[in-house]
Amino acid sequence: MSVATQHTLLPEVQSFLDQSPLASFVGGKAFPSGEGNVIATIDPGSGNQLAEIHDLNAAEIDRAVEIANEAFPAWSGLSQQERSSILLKLADAVESHKAIIAQIEALDAGKIEAQAAGDVQNFVDTLRYFVGLSDKVEKRTKLDVPGHDAHTVKQPWGACAFIFPWNFPFLLIGWGISPALAAGNTVVIKPAEDTSLSAIYLAQLAKEVGVPDGVINVVTGRGATAGAALTNNAEIKRMSFTGSPEVGRLVGESCGRNLVPVKLELGGKGAAVVFDDVDVKATAQALVGAITFHTGQVCCDATRWLIHEDIYDEFVAECKQLMEKVRIGHPLDPNSDMGPVVNPKQRERVLGYQEKGTAGGAQCLCGGGPATVDGLNGNYVKPTLLAGPLDNVAAREEIFGPVAYLAKFSDEADAIAKANDTDYGLANSVWTTDTERANRVAEAMIAGNSWINAHNVFAHGVPYGGVKKSGMGGGVLSPETLMDYYRSTSVVRPL
Ligand code: NAD
Repeated sequence: MSVATQHTLLPEVQSFLDQSPLASFVGGKAFPSGEGNVIATIDPGSGNQLAEIHDLNAAEIDRAVEIANEAFPAWSGLSQQERSSILLKLADAVESHKAIIAQIEALDAGKIEAQAAGDVQNFVDTLRYFVGLSDKVEKRTKLDVPGHDAHTVKQPWGACAFIFPWNFPFLLIGWGISPALAAGNTVVIKPAEDTSLSAIYLAQLAKEVGVPDGVINVVTGRGATAGAALTNNAEIKRMSFTGSPEVGRLVGESCGRNLVPVKLELGGKGAAVVFDDVDVKATAQALVGAITFHTGQVCCDATRWLIHEDIYDEFVAECKQLMEKVRIGHPLDPNSDMGPVVNPKQRERVLGYQEKGTAGGAQCLCGGGPATVDGLNGNYVKPTLLAGPLDNVAAREEIFGPVAYLAKFSDEADAIAKANDTDYGLANSVWTTDTERANRVAEAMIAGNSWINAHNVFAHGVPYGGVKKSGMGGGVLSPETLMDYYRSTSVVRPL
């Protein structure tokens, strides 16, 4: 299979792609679609086909869940030390294969290769973090109940299901499955159909390093069929969904019907509130950097920039200059700052919001429209600044591209009111040198996360997640989410 980008691929990446059509991986082996159904997976930077992946049907998804449940007793029966040592071997293997996985991810998801390498390292760090944390969880806790001998015991659930989006395919797998595996659960992963390659690679690698068969299973296929089948399966013990609010609702409904506990990590429309005491140059640089990172396909991005009226013009001028300098190109080109969006449909979505936004009264301050990269038929768009009234569709709905919407505010109360006037509640930031004001505004903005003088800061131990239309469950990357992967039994004996 020729990839036909202008870049040389690592031989390991080429031989992985040569396995095409790539099968799902279940029970420690390739798990092809019995009907031979496949989906083409495309390099968004060139428009060329990379490989094909198998498209599983509902019965095959159900079988994968069965296999994951069958593998559960042996995996959960290992001592904590045995399980940790296997998972740490997996973390080491992922780290030593970082360049390969990063290149696969860059090609499949259109992610700048150095950023993809950062995602792979984040997976490794996340797995190590949760393994370290799970060692310290007190699994049996004695309860002080007068006249009774009482304790609670924490145990893993069984097969846990994960459905992931296409923007951070490998990193999000790490965020999702690490606590589940460390706690002793088995997992069934359904990656997005556009970006399934790194998940398949992970499952193959897990087999090589001795993760027992059936512990890490990857099922590929379309959302409406394979994804829905996983959601409708009553034998999964927990469901974690990361993706759009529209699909999140369907997933929540199915899990509700089956009474399967569900965690939903959904979209965002975050605000950055910029006061008039900031270093305008540095703040503009940070926000332009954030909105162009992975071509704006970041759920927790600041996409509404609320700027104090006294510095608005200066701030806009600075941002325009910076945006015009962004080098758009193929993700494997080391000179590219920003790659394509994931697929032609997403490009249409981004361009469509620009059109609807300007038709509804927004002004396009810079960028706007598609971008071209010589010799490549990729899904490129220009970084764009829109400005205008905040009831505009481009200011209210998630675009998921490199498009920021600017508006002015007059004082702190106005800024908070505007920041909170949204259906979403994932992440916001406040920019000011006044620490007290920074803390006040950070706490007043209704969302799972507030950052001060920064945007998109993640650290293991800091809970991440959304409220309102951005999701429910939260606690990602922190001890809270590890505890989700244990169920508790209280045992009481009257004395
Ligand atoms: P999407 O909702 O279209 O798809 C996500 C996943 O759901 C894919 O694997 C897809 O195959 C599957 N799916 C689609 N229809 C389904 C159905 N009926 N039943 C079950 N599964 C189904 O989302 P996307 O376009 O891949 O990703 C973009 C969205 O993800 C954005 O809204 C973004 O904000 C959100 N996101 C949120 C977070 C977070 O942590 N909160 C992180 C990344 C992305």
